[in-house]
Amino acid sequence: MLPNKCGLGEIMSNDIDWDSLTFSLTPTDTMYLTETKQDEAWMPGDLRPYGNMSISPAAGVLNYGQGLFEGMKAYRTANDRVVFFRPEENARRMQRGADRLKMPPVPESVFIDAVEQVVAANLKWIPPMGKGALYVRPLLMGSGPVLGVSPAPSYTFLVYVTPVGPYFKGGVTAIDLLISEEYHRAAPGGSGGVKAIGNYAPGMMPSKKAKAAGYSEVIYLDAETHSCIEEVGAANFFCLKDGILYTPELTGTILPGITRDSIIKLARKNGMEVIETKVTAEFAMSADEAFCCGTAAVISPIGSITKGENKTVYGNGIPGEITTALYDQLTGIQSETSPDTFGWLHEVPTN
Ligand SMILES: *Cc1c(COP(=O)(O)O)cnc(C)c1O
Repeated sequence: MLPNKCGLGEIMSNDIDWDSLTFSLTPTDTMYLTETKQDEAWMPGDLRPYGNMSISPAAGVLNYGQGLFEGMKAYRTANDRVVFFRPEENARRMQRGADRLKMPPVPESVFIDAVEQVVAANLKWIPPMGKGALYVRPLLMGSGPVLGVSPAPSYTFLVYVTPVGPYFKGGVTAIDLLISEEYHRAAPGGSGGVKAIGNYAPGMMPSKKAKAAGYSEVIYLDAETHSCIEEVGAANFFCLKDGILYTPELTGTILPGITRDSIIKLARKNGMEVIETKVTAEFAMSADEAFCCGTAAVISPIGSITKGENKTVYGNGIPGEITTALYDQLTGIQSETSPDTFGWLHEVPTN
């Protein structure tokens, strides 16, 4: 039995209803935490009961948003293993983000050790294969007090986990999207290319507005020309036209998604041409298929895109053939029902 101070996790895990899991927070038993000073090395941290922490009111993260997050999943597979999908990529992305936000980067070895430890300590919270995954949320923040706008004197790296259900219950469905003509997510030279916590709150109001109007999410165009698609909320965009796959090129304003990169590699291995380029809204709205991607949903087929008075419906709102094939291939690798030809899986030691 794992130590559990409040006992709540123990009660909940015994009668956890895997079928009712959604993408929402279920508190688990154990989290990981380590701290360092501005110019000192990161030391491996330790596991502790999941729960609230105390923090200075003058913490850099609270006052100036000096913080980053990551999002990854641990899966149970057909071979009865617990695996991560390309976790080294999450570690590297967080390092690039730390650089941009003037925080001490967490070494890849510390990052991987941390996520492995937290998953191993919360094994009973990992849903059975096909019922979802254990979502892993690393956070890096300036936790020390600072009054002027400058880097915090000390930093906290913490990792917590929560079980999440499959994104699509009862089959993959296509979503309806609205192109935002008023708001942007990121500007050249800004922080859009890293998972800075401050990038996400400004998207909440546009997203809520779109949802109130009946759409699933907004599509953001680039802030310079207002013509090229950048992202779908917090997911990357792809479209297929005449058998060629297109995705917005990484210009610094787009978050380099690991799912995005995996889809490019998978499609190319399938012999498909993939072009990373500027994708205008006009072009995307003339495409044959479209989808967005990220760790949460893996791939979400797009049923329609609306821009002002114009609406494009893809394949009568039914997920496209190539979209579905890529989804099946990627989820097949993740669940080990297909061979891991790219060596993307990273087994979590569980003994
Ligand atoms: C996290 C994120 C993505 C998807 O990245 P994955 O590594 O595939 O999960 C895409 N766009 C934004 C803005 C994100 O924050």
